Amino acid sequence: MTEIAGVLLDTRHWIGGQRVASPETFPDHSPIDGSLIAEISRGGASEAAAAVAAASDAFPAWAATSRAERARILHAIADGVEKRLEDLANVETVDNGALLRSHRRGVMPRVAHNFRFFADWLLSLGHDDFETRGHANHVSWDPAGPSVLITPWNAPLMLATWKVAPALAAGNTVILKPAEWSPLTASLLADIAHEAGLPAGVLNVVQGYGAEAGAALVADPRVRRISFTGSVPTAQRIAEAAARNLTPLSLELGGKSPLLVFADADLDLAVDLAVEQYDNAGQVCLAATRLLVESSIADEFTARFLARAASLKQGDPRDEATDMGPNIHQRQVDKIDGFVRRALDAGATALLGGEPNADLGGLYYRPTLITGMAPDAEIITEEVFGPVLTLQTFSSEEEAVELANGTRFGLAATVATGDRQRAERVTARLVAGTVWVNCFFVRDLQAPFGGARQSGVGREGGTWSFDFYCDIKNTVMAP
Ligand code: NAD
Repeated sequence: MTEIAGVLLDTRHWIGGQRVASPETFPDHSPIDGSLIAEISRGGASEAAAAVAAASDAFPAWAATSRAERARILHAIADGVEKRLEDLANVETVDNGALLRSHRRGVMPRVAHNFRFFADWLLSLGHDDFETRGHANHVSWDPAGPSVLITPWNAPLMLATWKVAPALAAGNTVILKPAEWSPLTASLLADIAHEAGLPAGVLNVVQGYGAEAGAALVADPRVRRISFTGSVPTAQRIAEAAARNLTPLSLELGGKSPLLVFADADLDLAVDLAVEQYDNAGQVCLAATRLLVESSIADEFTARFLARAASLKQGDPRDEATDMGPNIHQRQVDKIDGFVRRALDAGATALLGGEPNADLGGLYYRPTLITGMAPDAEIITEEVFGPVLTLQTFSSEEEAVELANGTRFGLAATVATGDRQRAERVTARLVAGTVWVNCFFVRDLQAPFGGARQSGVGREGGTWSFDFYCDIKNTVMAP
């Protein structure tokens, strides 16, 4: 057992209801200060095969478990999450550097809610029954089988449970492979699920690198669903592996979302929405990192934005007063800085930040606002995944929509306007899985969630999740 933030946790895999070690480990560092916090079992082909075998063995009994019993266990897991909320919040913050206050008040309660929501949704899932020339059609949601769930590090337990909860509710068994930069809360989730009475083998956690454990899991022909959240290049590799077995895939990928600010917008609200994009040090897939502002208000908007952003406090994410913590890893900071350096070298201007925070050192990158780039500049079209926003102006609604839709992504878009009809006209033309008007990050678990273009394949949320995790069957019975 390893002690992290005062919490004892097991850094081995959880396979078939048992802790399993690998011959090798990999190091896990805290982004807060770079310290080594744990050595984690480094899974590969044999651990992946063992986990898929355990999930396959456990599948028939779990699939046959009544909906009421599955829902009861999911609620018991939610109870366990709530009971250990402080532990989960503290461990997650030390592991991925996101704010402790967000983990406490927003993220971990939402993790519990993920289980409660899908337990209740399962109980309310209707059956489509209808007649065809006297024959009775019965549509059922049959569990599909072992499901591999692969998740990133920016919101580890939140994103993992957004998949684990509906997969378990649907009657599938699960192999979860958390990101190697944030492996810890998945291990605590295994303990919580076990204590809640989830049978052995129904939830398995395999730790390890993507190219080893992850690649072995997605290539296994016994796996009947793969749900992945992460980057486009990894999704392409996973899709190639899945193609060989025709394993159904759900892909939640990157974004380069716009915030459109029209001259008729409530400017205070628009500035708040823009500054909010620095949340989680900019490591949010949905972040509206491209600020598109109507020319007539651009100067005033920029002045107010800079004044507001200057009040952001950067520092230790465990401190209640901190608004922005570190980025996850030196590799990520180098990547962020590379984007910024190349933009500045090409003639762009940093109105704010533009470099690592030398006062704090380590992985803290200053909140940054870049302007003066061509519409096809790399920093406009590629996902930075750090606290870097760009500012562009437009002179007409037409131009605003054209700029907004001008990337290969289509995850989300946000529009700030005081004109309802404009909102309807513009939102109808935006290419995005989610569009917010005069708000941001309002998410109902029953809403479809996913991306257009290269931001993803498929939708999750509410019934859409059950569509994905189930084999939907129509039975036709003669009179
Ligand atoms: P990543 O693609 O590098 O890694 C994600 C996961 O995939 C990790 O667990 C990793 O170990 C695993 N992996 C890597 N190679 C693999 C392989 N060959 N086979 C199987 N698994 C493999 O992404 P990341 O850097 O961890 O996350 C950041 C990305 O995730 C950003 O692009 C971000 O926009 C995206 N994201 C999307 C959403 C969404 O809902 N659309 C949410 C959060 C993050």
